[in-house]
Amino acid sequence: MKVEELLLRAEKKLSGLHPVVADKARKLIRAAHSEGIYIIITQGLRTIEEQNRLYAQGRTKPGRIVTNARGGYSYHNFGLAFDFCVCNVVNGKLVTSWNLDRRWFRVGQLGKSLGLEWGGDWKSFKDYPHFQYTFGLSLAQLRAGKKPPNAVTVKK
Ligand SMILES: [Zn+2]
Repeated sequence: MKVEELLLRAEKKLSGLHPVVADKARKLIRAAHSEGIYIIITQGLRTIEEQNRLYAQGRTKPGRIVTNARGGYSYHNFGLAFDFCVCNVVNGKLVTSWNLDRRWFRVGQLGKSLGLEWGGDWKSFKDYPHFQYTFGLSLAQLRAGKKPPNAVTVKK
């Protein structure tokens, strides 16, 4: 599995993210790949409406609860978070592996070394697929319209 293929796959999900965060996601894909760990990006920007739909799941809609955040209460809603999944390669194809093995924890470490906050470290609601980069901004500040600084130069 070539790293270019993983990066190409990620682009669509990364397109709505803040450039600094998207860049960290690409670096994470590369770092994991260099250790033989293949990850895909499963979520990037999530609109407020999408977040509200997700919040309803397991509450007012069927399914299991997957988030504790309403619309505007997740860094995904501001393009500052992304989710990943570890993959196995089966017959040359990527197959998601949600089984929480050592690779997940290694990716968590790699992400943190890039300055990302990992949901696997959270105390109350462990969100192993989740990374965010807040620029020191709280969700209340973001909801109030405060913007993170723009990237000056972003290397692809
Ligand atoms: Zn997430």
